[in-house]
Amino acid sequence: MKKYLSTLLCGLLLNAAALAHGDVELGPNGGRILEFSKNESMHGEVLVKDNNFHVALLDKELRPVTLTEQELTATSGDRAKPEKLAVEKKDGKFVVPAVKAGEWVVFQFRASAKAKPVTARMQYDLTVCGGCKEPEWICKCAANKGKAQAGNGKK
Ligand SMILES: [Zn+2]
Repeated sequence: MKKYLSTLLCGLLLNAAALAHGDVELGPNGGRILEFSKNESMHGEVLVKDNNFHVALLDKELRPVTLTEQELTATSGDRAKPEKLAVEKKDGKFVVPAVKAGEWVVFQFRASAKAKPVTARMQYDLTVCGGCKEPEWICKCAANKGKAQAGNGKK
C-alpha cells in the first residue's frame, strides 16, 4: 500500500510539472507569447536580443500588428523591491531591458493611452528544460505536444 501511494504521489507531481509547462505558448518567431487582451485578439511575442526584451505585437491569428498608439509598461516582479523598467518604441517593437535570470516581469499593455490596461506576467526562467533543452521561459514542450495532439482533433 505504501508503495502504491508513493507511486501515486509521484504521478501527481509529474502532472503538476506538465501543467506548468503548458503555460508557455510560442510565437511564429520562437518567442514567448503573452496575452495582451481579454479575448485573444492581441498578443505580444517576446524575444531577447542584446540583453533586451523585444516585444512585437501580434493579432488573433498571430500576424504582425503595426505599433502606433499602443502603450506598454513593464515592472520587474521582485515584490520586495519592484522596479519600473524603461520601455522604448523602436523599429515597430517595444524594447525593454531584460531582467535577471529567474525574475518575473509584469507587463501592462494598453491598446491606446485611454484604454484599460491588460496585465501579463512572465518569469524569465533560464533553467534549461530537460524535455526540449530550451530555457524554461521559451520551453517548446507544450508546442511539441500540441503538434502531436493536432491529429486527434483536440485543441
Ligand atoms: Zn521543454
